[in-house]
Order: sequence, then C-alpha cells, then structure tokens
Amino acid sequence: MNPFQYTRTSAAAGAIQSLVKQPQAHLLAGGTNLIDLIKMGVVQPERLVDINLLPLKGIEKTATGLRIGALATNSEVADHPLVLENYPLLSMAINAGASPQLRNMATVGGNMMQRTRCNSFFDPAMPCNKRAPGSGCGALEGVNRMHALFGASDKCIAVNPSDMNVAMVALDAVVHVRGPKGDRKIAFGDFHRLPGDHPEKDNTLERTELIMSVDLPASRFNKHAHYLKIRDRSSYAFALVSVAAALDMDGDTIREARLAMGGVAHKPWRLHEAEAFLKGKPANEESFKKAARIAMQGAKAYRYNQFKLTLAPNVILQALKTASA
Ligand SMILES: Cc1cc2nc3c(=O)[nH]c(=O)nc-3n(C[C@H](O)[C@H](O)[C@H](O)COP(=O)(O)OP(=O)(O)OC[C@H]3O[C@@H](n4cnc5c(N)ncnc54)[C@H](O)[C@@H]3O)c2cc1C
Ligand code: SF4
Repeated sequence: MNPFQYTRTSAAAGAIQSLVKQPQAHLLAGGTNLIDLIKMGVVQPERLVDINLLPLKGIEKTATGLRIGALATNSEVADHPLVLENYPLLSMAINAGASPQLRNMATVGGNMMQRTRCNSFFDPAMPCNKRAPGSGCGALEGVNRMHALFGASDKCIAVNPSDMNVAMVALDAVVHVRGPKGDRKIAFGDFHRLPGDHPEKDNTLERTELIMSVDLPASRFNKHAHYLKIRDRSSYAFALVSVAAALDMDGDTIREARLAMGGVAHKPWRLHEAEAFLKGKPANEESFKKAARIAMQGAKAYRYNQFKLTLAPNVILQALKTASA
C-alpha cells in the first residue's frame, strides 16, 4: 500500500496548482480507471486531487454547436436530448462502452484520458515501455490479440480503448484545456498521439493541464449515423474493432462522410482517405467496399490479431450500410 494524500478542490486554478507543485499528483474524476491502476500498482500517486466539485458538468448549446463539460458523466452525455437529437453517433458510442454503473461514474475527461487495456501494461511483472519506459514491450512477441493494426511502433503496439473517443474524432470535436500558461484548444484528432519512441505519453495534454470541456460543431450527421462495435461478448467488453460512421446524404448520394475506427491504433483512427473517396458517391455496397479497402491500406497485424485484417473491413462495410439505411 502506497500512502497518498487526498484533496478536493472546487477551482480549476487549485487543481492546476496541485499538479504544478507535485509531479506525482493525479486528478481524480469518476475514478473508474485511476483507482484500478492504483490498485494494480501501475500508478503510485503522491496526491489525488478530486476535481468533482469543479463546475464542469454542463452540457449546453453554443452559437456553433454543443459544449460538454469535462465532468459530465458518460450517462448524462449519452442520454442528453441535444446529444440524442444532434449527435446520435456519440450517444451510441458511449452506450457501447463499459456497463451502466460505470457510465454513471465515468466522466468525459476521464474517458478521454483512460489508459490502454494491454495486459502487459496492467501487469507490473511484465515489461512495458508505456508503464516503465525502456523496459521493452511485452505484447510485441506476446499476447497481442487486442492490439494495433495502424500507427504502431516497435516500442508499443497498444490501442486506445475508448468508444467515446471514436465518435468524438469522427465528429470533429475540439478539446478546451487550461494550464499554468492559460487556456488552449486541441483538435480531437490531435489530442491522442501515436506511440513512436515515447509510448509513455498517450496524448498531447501537458501533465499540469486540465481538460475543461469538449466542443462539437453543429452536425449534419444526425440522420445517418451508426456506431458498430465488435467485442468478445455483447456487453462489458472492450472493442476488438469498432467503427463510427456518419453520412450527410442527398437522396442516395453521399454529400459528406465521417468515419473513424476504434481498437486498431494508439489513438482513435480517423479514416480521412475513405471519407474523401465516399464524397459524391452513391451510397451502395460497391462504394462502401471500396472505402473499406482504402481504409485498410497500410494495416499491419501481429501474431494473434491477424483476424482483425478481415474483421475491420467487414465492420466498416456493415457500419456504413446501417448508417445509410
Ligand atoms: C470493467 C471496465 C470496463 C470498461 N469498458 C469500457 C468500454 O467498453 N469502452 C470504453 O470506452 N471504456 C470502458 N471502460 C473505461 C471507462 O470508460 C473509463 O474508466 C472511464 O471513462 C474513466 O473516466 P473516469 O471519470 O472514471 O476517470 P478517472 O479514473 O477518474 O481518471 C482517468 C484519468 O483521467 C484523468 N482525468 C480525469 N479527468 C480529467 C480532466 N478533466 N483533465 C485532465 N485529466 C483528467 C485522471 O487524472 C486519470 O489519469 C471500462 C472500465 C472498466 C473498469
Ligand atoms: S503494447 Fe504498449 S502498453 Fe502493451 S506492453 Fe507493449 S509497450 Fe506496454
């Protein structure tokens, strides 16, 4: 048992100050990921800074779309009337994750920051460059069934486990963060990073920064959207492969497409080239199959996740079919 201090703050400045003062201070939101990591010995905090009293729970219409506070719970977001009406893709993605109890506790900021579910990362007896930089990667030659197809490095082949993030990146969300140097915005697609030589860094948030909210632009993608998640059992399991698909249609023609995959990369994997291909095409099986082929270019599998090479294009095809219907 590692002793740690616990503080509660109701001001963003107080939370940021704690992070600045103590390198091993961690923010506590719903606690559904962080507490597990502490119990497993993966994270050893000096201090937990409980941010649940911060006024960051709002979900509000803005002049350009919707603003979701970082402390809004996953359930509050998924069930919110404005989300259901304008961003059903986000609601579907969140509801595909975890369990109702977890979604009642989990927050938007916490979901974005959740760590990978790679077995070796969770097991301090195994080498893992993400947990202990320089120790090696236990998954590269080990159990890698859940691991990446895209953007991996020889240092880390883990995937980002979030469902919510896949919809957020497809919907062009923007993250508002605050730190000791002030406020800044990060495009959702730039928030998470690829492992490269530094897999210990999951994202581009500075250690002393706080996620304040996420903005969604006004969406034209509410009529034709689908989130399809394939997993080992139908609930309470992380994605093997998931696809967020949303189409803006003019009759049977695709005006614009938004596509992203989960369970295949260190970050939610936006499929820009497949989206560009679909623009102006008829919404039919032939277009969707070609888009899926484009999306899979550059995929690389490992010993135990070869099946994803067949699964992923099928999930893209099925998600697009359902979205277009
Ligand atoms: C059994 C189980 C099954 C699950 N299945 C799924 C699933 O299928 N799909 C899925 O997407 N997720 C799944 N999850 C993960 C779950 O969604 C996350 O645990 C949850 O979203 C984390 O949110 P939280 O508020 O509890 O975060 P916490 O555990 O409180 O925090 C997580 C991290 O985020 C940081 N953090 C929190 N808020 C902020 C902020 N505002 N600014 C900066 N940093 C912050 C914390 O410091 C910490 O590092 C599952 C979890 C469990 C335990
Ligand atoms: S894949 Fe990444 S998280 Fe998993 S063991 Fe390798 S370095 Fe660690």
